[in-house]
Amino acid sequence: METIEADVVIVGGGPAGCSCALYTSRADLKTVILDKNPDVGALAITHQIANYPGVSSEMSGEALLALMREQAVSFGSDYRRAQVFGVDVNGEWKTVYTPEGTFKARALVVATGALGRPASFKGEAEYLGRGVSYCATCDGAFYKGREVAVVGANKEAVEEGQVLTKFASRVHWLTTSDPKEDDAHAQALMTQPNVQHWSRTRLMLIEGDDAGVTGIKLKNRTQETEQDLAVEGVFVYMSGSKPITDFLGDQVAFKEDGGVVVDDFMATTVDGVWAIGDIRNTPFKQAVVAASDGCIAAMAIDRFLNSRKGIRVDWVH
Ligand SMILES: Cc1cc2nc3c(=O)[nH]c(=O)nc-3n(C[C@H](O)[C@H](O)[C@H](O)COP(=O)(O)OP(=O)(O)OC[C@H]3O[C@@H](n4cnc5c(N)ncnc54)[C@H](O)[C@@H]3O)c2cc1C
Repeated sequence: METIEADVVIVGGGPAGCSCALYTSRADLKTVILDKNPDVGALAITHQIANYPGVSSEMSGEALLALMREQAVSFGSDYRRAQVFGVDVNGEWKTVYTPEGTFKARALVVATGALGRPASFKGEAEYLGRGVSYCATCDGAFYKGREVAVVGANKEAVEEGQVLTKFASRVHWLTTSDPKEDDAHAQALMTQPNVQHWSRTRLMLIEGDDAGVTGIKLKNRTQETEQDLAVEGVFVYMSGSKPITDFLGDQVAFKEDGGVVVDDFMATTVDGVWAIGDIRNTPFKQAVVAASDGCIAAMAIDRFLNSRKGIRVDWVH
């Protein structure tokens, strides 16, 4: 698998990650943005963003984010769709692991937002990594010819469900409501020959043994009793409000509320690692705050990589 070196690797392509990339690229630093999915971050799902300075109050979050991404790319940022599942922050070069390849940089920025959730289904935490997964692109190939369940109705669930149809013999798709009729992607997933859609259905329990997941219990809203389903994989895609930090392990310090600890320059407790945007669990989660964090980190990174004592302002041309 390929290994790519850069000056700066940014994990997360929301307003924090994109504004950071805009500044580091303009500072002539080779910058890679690794983004799981441009449609599932907090700004991407914001229907209308009326309070971002300088843009039309009619603009959707998705459109504003596309502008930010295009601007970063126009200055040279290398934007890639990839889900980061691990990092190693030891030493001068930080390593970032994705199913698409390994990335190395002297400056690592984490900007994955705060739409994460703690494992909440019975059995979810117990079988995490042994049948329970949050990444079909990472783990889908392990389920060739096997039955799996996909839980959730958001865009990520739909896309990851499609990925699983290439491997699994049957994909059971559980949603608590009916997907919208004008949602072309959801409708396309339901028409796949190896997809069985369970509408208005809740996941109640994930069961297993020493080898991993063996099945789930589910319950349809209209029925009194739970039903057993034999599956070997369960892919959960539900949003919450917890900083997304699972890929960091315990390699940086966290606050009690789960946010990453940073200083005034957005630097974490590990040299060469910065954290920006909602991953800090700031009291005021706003797009403009996330973008501001990205700018501060980028200027600090420029100083760090170029061993300058002061911050070089970006407005001297
Ligand atoms: C419903 C809603 C409405 C909102 N309305 C407003 C508003 O009107 N005005 C306003 O200013 N703010 C609003 N906000 C808040 C604002 O959207 C956030 O503060 C802002 O988007 C945070 O930016 P971020 O870059 O930190 O995270 P996000 O925007 O969440 O972006 C995080 C990115 O990281 C990616 N990612 C996650 N995990 C991984 C991984 N493992 N590997 C690679 N990539 C990963 C995601 O795909 C995503 O693209 C709203 C938020 C929500 C949820």
